[in-house]
Parts: sequence; structure tokens; C-alpha cells
Amino acid sequence: MKAKNNFYITTAIDYPSGKPHIGHAYEKILADTIARWQRSQKRNVFFLTGTDEHGQKIEKYAKQDNKSPEEFVIAMTAEFIGLCKMLNISNDDFIRTTEKRHIDVALAILKKAMDKGDIYKDKYEGYYCVDCECFYLERDLIDGKCAVHKKPADWIEEDGYFFKMSMYQQKVLDHIANNQDFIFPKTRRNEIINRIKEGVRDLSISRSNFSWGIPFPADKEHVIFVWFDALINYVSGIGYPDSPRFEDFWPADIHLIGKDILWFHTMVWMAILMSADIELPKAVFVHGFINLQGEKISKSSGVLVDPVALIEKYGADSLRYFLLREMSFGEDGNFSEQALIRRINSDLANDLGNLIHRSATMIEKYVQGNVPIKRIAEHQVTLWEFAENLNNSVAEQMQIYNFAQALSKIWEVINLANKFIEDTKPWVLFKENKQEQLSDFIFILNFVINKVQENLQPFMPETADKIQQQFSSGCIKKQEPLFPRIEDAD
Ligand SMILES: [Zn+2]
Repeated sequence: MKAKNNFYITTAIDYPSGKPHIGHAYEKILADTIARWQRSQKRNVFFLTGTDEHGQKIEKYAKQDNKSPEEFVIAMTAEFIGLCKMLNISNDDFIRTTEKRHIDVALAILKKAMDKGDIYKDKYEGYYCVDCECFYLERDLIDGKCAVHKKPADWIEEDGYFFKMSMYQQKVLDHIANNQDFIFPKTRRNEIINRIKEGVRDLSISRSNFSWGIPFPADKEHVIFVWFDALINYVSGIGYPDSPRFEDFWPADIHLIGKDILWFHTMVWMAILMSADIELPKAVFVHGFINLQGEKISKSSGVLVDPVALIEKYGADSLRYFLLREMSFGEDGNFSEQALIRRINSDLANDLGNLIHRSATMIEKYVQGNVPIKRIAEHQVTLWEFAENLNNSVAEQMQIYNFAQALSKIWEVINLANKFIEDTKPWVLFKENKQEQLSDFIFILNFVINKVQENLQPFMPETADKIQQQFSSGCIKKQEPLFPRIEDAD
């Protein structure tokens, strides 16, 4: 039985047919911020991410690279793990669908469906996009081409195995209807309800035209369809069926996904879970895409922004801050390097970096690095009230997953603190030797910085740690600026 305090969050597992792009980074940053924030609220969090390593597309790209699929996925998955490390992603585990612990669970769940009579053999035919790994109806195609990839879809006719997904149509629809918060945001909820109402067909869950997958147990000519295999990671990753971790953390609190795979995570995954008599997750959170010149960023549509290069150039926290601040959760947003530089220079170098740098400098110079242990004067300061209330105002926004507003609450305090310095003019107090007022000023400033630091932690962990180290030491000294200004000449 899952304890109320336990919180389980997953990202979609990434398909490593190429190097990670900024969309992968965005999803991990969102999930990591939620995980870190929940931990700050004293929840016991388990955070899972990973890679989805089977399928025709991997087989195809490996061949192009003159590698075996095994060699290819090992090399590519290392890139995704490397990205997590660079972004300071605090995942508790990383599941790869080629691991034995996953394959065993995928086969066990398939067997449950077979025992139930939910699997049958038939002929399947239809238009198939290899890059999407999914079938389309003729009306979904544009001039015979996949709407996402703009490549011709193949007509496929084969014998294969089907999962009786249509049997679960009404049950899934009822579940969505009875659980208002199951799909977030609401706009996505309506989209999926309409699509299910249009009719659900049985799902083809085997392939025989390639071999890179989990062999189908009853028929070695076939491998299990990559989506049927991949979705199961959410339970294999925590040790379904009998590990204590599965007992402790299932059902998942949040499956965080991109809007393009909503169907698989609501209709398909829910039907698989119902067939296997596993409890359903509590919520599916759907984020938007990052646009670059108006195109969805994905490897197969050909537009790429390399997150690793951006992190090397600007630091992990700059990218984290930019994406959390500029994107509105659930909606599409734009990315450009110029906009990133603008945010770094104004919000990070100017507002935050400047506050930290000048505060440490003043504390070192005016009180020899020793912050007074209590306030002398007890007059009300607006800044103090804002800082004291910051945990609440950030929590209010995080409860509705409004990352941008949560950050803007923190920046409100940062800006007030900078104004407080300008208004108080401590350099004058110092010159006139007004020790009591100066001491009071330093006390307030230090309190505010500690509140800012504490609240920044889920969003910008590296920066928060640096501030904490600097301001929790017995003797505060000025250090290098946190965010040097960037000359955007190049
Ligand atoms: Zn496609």
C-alpha cells in the first residue's frame, strides 16, 4: 500500500535514435524541478527517467552508422545519461528497455493479457510511419505523408498479434470523465476524450519485418511492438510485481510527457494496465513543444538545438531558468539563443548575480563577514514581509505547476532587495559610522538572501548550492560573480 507521503514522477523514456535535443532537456528540467520541489515539501520522492531502446527506427539508424543495434543504443544512451548529469537531474534511477529487469516485466504483462484472452492473431494492414512507429488512417495523412515527419507513410500488410484495446474504450473514457485531474492541462483532456469517442481500434502489438525488439513469446518470427514494450517501463522501473519499491510508489503521481504521445499514455497505457489488473496512475501531465523557427524540434524533422553545447556555453542553471521562466506549462514556446542571452544578462547577471555579489561585498567590508545574530530595530520593512512569505507564494504557484510565476515571485523579492540597498544607502551609513542601522540592514539582507536561496533550489540547484555555501559560512566573503554578463556580439 502506497504511503500518502510517497511521490512517484516519471518522464517519458527517450528514444535514442540520435543525440538529445533541447526538447529532451526541457522535459527533464520540468520533472526535476517538480521532484526537487516535492522533496523540499518533505515528500518521499522517486523520480524515474530512461531510454526506450527497441524498434525499427533504432535498427535503421544503427545500420546507417555501421553499428549493431546494441552498440548503437549503448553509445546513444550514454549521451542521454550525460545530459542528465550536466543538467543536475536528480533522477533516482535510469531504466533502459534492453535491461533484463524490464524485458522480464514486459513479458509478464503480455502473458497476463494473453491469459485473459486479450491477444489474438490476425492480418493487419494500414499506413505506417516508421519515425512515429505508428499506424495512420488515410485521413490523418497529408498527400500520403505523415503530418509530423512529412515523409511518405508505408502501406503495410502482415500477419500479426493484436491487443483488444477496443474493449477498454468505455472504461478508459469513464476513468477520464470521473477523474477531472487525470489529464493536465484541461485542453489536452478534451482532445483525448474526443479522439476516444471517435472510436478505438485494436492495437497491433507485434512486428515481423525487423528483429530489434523483445521476441514475441508464442511466435519467434515476431517482436513486441515498441510502444507496448516501452510504456511498461513505468512499472518495471520500480520493480513490478513484487518489489517493495513498487508497493511503496505505485500508482505514479505524475507521468510527464510531450503532447505528441498523449494517446499512448492515456488510451494505450491505461488499457494495458486494466488488462493486467494494475492500478492506474494518478495523472498524466502534458507539456508543449519548443519551437525553433516555428518547427517542432525533433531529430527526425531535422531541426536541432544541442543542449550540451548550450550548457557548456552558458551553464545548466541558465538553461533551466530560461526554459522554466519563458515557457508556459502545457503550451508551446519559442527558443532562441538571443532570448537566452537577454534573460542571462538581465535576470541572472543584473538582478540575482548583482544582489549576491554586492551583498557579500558589503557584508565583508562593513561587518567583517559576520552577520549580526538578531535585528535591533523592529520597524516593518516591505521586503522582509515579502521574503518571509516567499515559501508560501512559491508553493501557491507550484501547486498549480506555474513554474514561470513561481520564479517571478522569487524575482519580485530579488528586485525589492536591490531596491532596498539603493534606498538604504549603506555606504552612507558606513561613512557616518551608524553601526546600529548598518547592522540592521545587513541582518535583513542576509535573511532575504537565505529565503531566495532556499526557494531557488528546485529551479536552479547549482546556483542555490553556491549561494548557500557562500552565505552559510561563518565569515561571508565576496566571490566571483555567479553569472558574468554575456556580450552578444557573436
Ligand atoms: Zn511520422
